[in-house]
Amino acid sequence: MRERTFAARAAEDNAAMGRPAIQNELLAAMSRKTYDALAPALTPVTLVFGEVLYEAHAPMAHVYFPCESMVSLLLPVENHIDIEVGLVGREGMLGASLALGIVRSPVKALVQGAGSALRLSAARFGRELSQNPALQRAVNRYLHSLMQQITQTAACNRFHVVEARLARWLLMTRDRMRSPKFRMTHEFLSHMLGVRRVGVTEAASSLQRQKLIEYTRGNISILDEPGLEAACCGCYGLVKSIALPVLS
Ligand SMILES: [Zn+2]
Repeated sequence: MRERTFAARAAEDNAAMGRPAIQNELLAAMSRKTYDALAPALTPVTLVFGEVLYEAHAPMAHVYFPCESMVSLLLPVENHIDIEVGLVGREGMLGASLALGIVRSPVKALVQGAGSALRLSAARFGRELSQNPALQRAVNRYLHSLMQQITQTAACNRFHVVEARLARWLLMTRDRMRSPKFRMTHEFLSHMLGVRRVGVTEAASSLQRQKLIEYTRGNISILDEPGLEAACCGCYGLVKSIALPVLS
């Protein structure tokens, strides 16, 4: 008989006791003992659209486990707009590099999807890591999957066309927000894709003409999910299957 996952057991326990389920998948995948040690120190917070959690090269005061929110990792590039190098939602966490002894964020962390998250001070996170090898292993695994996403994004930004990259980004957002509808401005999309706004308009218009999405006044609706998956580059499926199994 297959043992039930901790996430499944925790969901049942929580339901029986009238408690909400653990929405962050990284926390839900930890052992019960590891999660219980961490839980009292986790503070529920609501992340606001456009909020900056970390500036690039600045110290990280807290770590965050997104639940219904989504955060973009942006890299400042000289003489260019910031470009997105990674996306973090309920499958992961912000501040994982503290586990490597790195106290300054290499990237800017900007909230793209408003919603709930759990927050923990960097100092407490460090103490928990030193006392809990299982937590260290869970964070290490996540760091590896994030590295996979970032390296694939580097190749994607260089070789794949804007329309396919936009389709990929929309699907990654859908997975993390658990919704085919979300809010996104042209300005943010231009950061995501590292292109001027006119490039965003052209790519979004093309996807609209194919009836794959609807995009009006900053509100995006995915109309045809299989069609959008067919329109995006292979990077989407590759990262999802290799690095982010919890999103399946
Ligand atoms: Zn790609």
